[in-house]
Amino acid sequence: MASNEQIINETKTFINIETNICKSIYVHIPFCTNICSYCDFCKYFYNEKMVDDYLNALEKEINAKYKNEVIETIYVGGGTPTSLSYAQLSRLLDILKKINVDNLEYTVEINVENIDEDKIKLLSSYGVNRISIGVQTFNEKYLKLLNRKHNKEQVITAINMIKKYISNINIDLIYALPGQTLEELNKDIDEFIALDIPHISTYSLIIEEHTILNNNNVENIDEELDYEMYKLICKRLKEYDHYEISNFGKIKSRHNLTYWNNEHYYGFGLGASGYIDNIRYTNTRSLNNYINGKYIIEEEELDFNETIENLFILGFRKTNGINIDDTLNKYHINILDIDIVKELIKEKKLLVENNNLKINKDYIYTSNDILTNFLGGNYERYIQE
Ligand code: SF4
Repeated sequence: MASNEQIINETKTFINIETNICKSIYVHIPFCTNICSYCDFCKYFYNEKMVDDYLNALEKEINAKYKNEVIETIYVGGGTPTSLSYAQLSRLLDILKKINVDNLEYTVEINVENIDEDKIKLLSSYGVNRISIGVQTFNEKYLKLLNRKHNKEQVITAINMIKKYISNINIDLIYALPGQTLEELNKDIDEFIALDIPHISTYSLIIEEHTILNNNNVENIDEELDYEMYKLICKRLKEYDHYEISNFGKIKSRHNLTYWNNEHYYGFGLGASGYIDNIRYTNTRSLNNYINGKYIIEEEELDFNETIENLFILGFRKTNGINIDDTLNKYHINILDIDIVKELIKEKKLLVENNNLKINKDYIYTSNDILTNFLGGNYERYIQE
């Protein structure tokens, strides 16, 4: 009879084979033509020469790391990918054309101030079939506070133009803006709904260190008002599937589901993160190091317990939670056997529905309190033969 240790080792080998199939790629383009006041992303002010050097380095990184897997989702984010000139955007798309793809969801983030019909036609001709637009708000006062350079008319014109070529569009909505009222948010939601877009991602503004807002001593809004705003968004976006804490879609983002399903993905580019061969890695944020081929600054190989911890932390972001059978097949554990799961079900904080374990929607807003229960757990002891 196999010892417990043997079973654990066999399961780990199985996980390595079964879960290491990588079907997704994230590519970071860290250039912007304008710096927003709330931004703490990895970005540089656009510079033509810097972008040319960066694209050469990006191509080298992809050539060095990509192992010709068949990829099903590519997400080009930033920064602002469309801050690149037409020729640079073509070069980027050519680099990514070498990737083997099948049934591809291909997303590119854009900002309306640097998109035109020629760039959209170009993206579409290379197979880009999903666009994500940083709209944030239509309120002039808050656009100014966020240092965004577009206005409502430009957004509507851009969206109508994009729809001629690519219909699968996401727009970002930022709420909990300093001074914002529920009425102002409601008006933004009215205008977002009127755009008739298949996906809306929402973000509660958190003022991070090293941002212009923080330097100007602007403070986050009251937590209770933030919660009221979250509830208002959930109530108003009823026509959308509220499939993740902050995401609402008539068409879901397959790429983002890769993250929430704890699946493997490449992260290419400055500051990008990836998850390959059970190793979570983060690339350098130093443009100099990156251009000189020193890509990774941090990597950590996950053991079984950490893999399951991530499964919970990420999987509970989805409103329909974690599939019980999938977890049994993939990791050889029945999550309903886990003591803390049993306790949280008893407290009605977790629910079992349609063979999924999920957070009760009354606790979604405070889900972090529930998630902390899953940190540092010993899950190996639940492995089944
Ligand atoms: S466009 Fe995006 S990445 Fe660039 S500064 Fe604004 S928020 Fe940051």
